[in-house]
Amino acid sequence: MSHLMNTYARLPVAFSHGDGSWITDTEGKCYLDALSGIAVSTLGHNHPALVAAIAAQAARVLHTSNIYRIPQQEQLADRLTALAGMEEVFFCNSGCEANEAAIKLARFFGHQNGIDSPVIIVMEKAFHGRTLATLSATGNRKAQAGFEPLVSGFVRVPYNDLEAIRAIAEHNHNVVAVMLEIVQGEGGINIADLEFQRGLRALCDDRNWLLLCDEVQCGMGRTGTWFGFQHAGIVPDVATLAKGLGSGVPIGACLTAGKAAGLFKPGNHGSTFGGNQLATTAALTTLDVIEKDNLRANAVAVGQLIRNGLAEALAGVAGVVDIRGQGLMLGVELDRPCGELVTRALDAGLLINVTAEKVVRLLPPLTFGVDEGRELVSRLSKLIRDFLAA
Ligand SMILES: *Cc1c(COP(=O)(O)O)cnc(C)c1O
Repeated sequence: MSHLMNTYARLPVAFSHGDGSWITDTEGKCYLDALSGIAVSTLGHNHPALVAAIAAQAARVLHTSNIYRIPQQEQLADRLTALAGMEEVFFCNSGCEANEAAIKLARFFGHQNGIDSPVIIVMEKAFHGRTLATLSATGNRKAQAGFEPLVSGFVRVPYNDLEAIRAIAEHNHNVVAVMLEIVQGEGGINIADLEFQRGLRALCDDRNWLLLCDEVQCGMGRTGTWFGFQHAGIVPDVATLAKGLGSGVPIGACLTAGKAAGLFKPGNHGSTFGGNQLATTAALTTLDVIEKDNLRANAVAVGQLIRNGLAEALAGVAGVVDIRGQGLMLGVELDRPCGELVTRALDAGLLINVTAEKVVRLLPPLTFGVDEGRELVSRLSKLIRDFLAA
């Protein structure tokens, strides 16, 4: 531990192996995983199809570089653009990199339209990553403190406030894009209103701005649709994916459509590892299993069961402010900071997370079953009751 940079307040547990929604620590204790490594393990742990696909690919070739064609990458781009209703994909290795690509694209788009100092409108409570540009786009002062000067060219508005964006449009003629998460994850499971999304799409069309959707946490079927924006029936100009895309193998993607497509030429952007054979095989297999096993429908059904179950089990409990979310992206907001629930849950054999200080965040694998949903409701509602009663 002592030689690791102290970037995480690590819990005193390490895991040895997993099986579906369950994972066992090095002492042999078993936990129900309602977090999936923060929306990453889409297919749960040790999914046989994923294990087989990765092993077979590893035995052939892992990596060759993007200076050669990579057939798996081309297939994955075909699949993702078809699912999104978009046109092109750039592959990278993480969410912040996918967002860096989106931000660079928006600036590039601005310059091509004669805007020398492009500005991107971003949201309060947004989380877009930890690199300098994505940290600057992130709406969390604590995460930014000490890293100034931040990257310029971002202006911030309250979430779900179309009027605030319209007001900026009136006086700021350097705006080139609006960037948002359709469901804010780190910000506390806040959902963009459908009318706000549709209004934003229309405003972006009207003003010739790009609409950038950060789907790094809410994409890949988690909310019940492949992409969060599909609930509103809109298509953004740029969408980013990462977390759940490779079900544990690092991969990120930046998708474009319409006026955002075709902008980058060789030399404008790149990634050494991005979209290599191993990562794209993992993502293709993840898509296959989501499709074959109807995991989007499962996310809707089990998500509903968990939400209803928690609403029932916590009905009338003072201190519970709200139970919300979509599919298997759920939050329970309490009236007080509740970070302590994470260690209490760990003791009780349950993996959860607390974000925005007061919101218990649930991001189970999309393979989460009905029985596991009930088990989660039972363990978590008891933990919350005990915590609030103390
Ligand atoms: C996690 C997250 C990121 C950053 O992804 P990394 O892979 O950690 O760089 C960006 N946007 C959203 C919405 C996220 O949840």
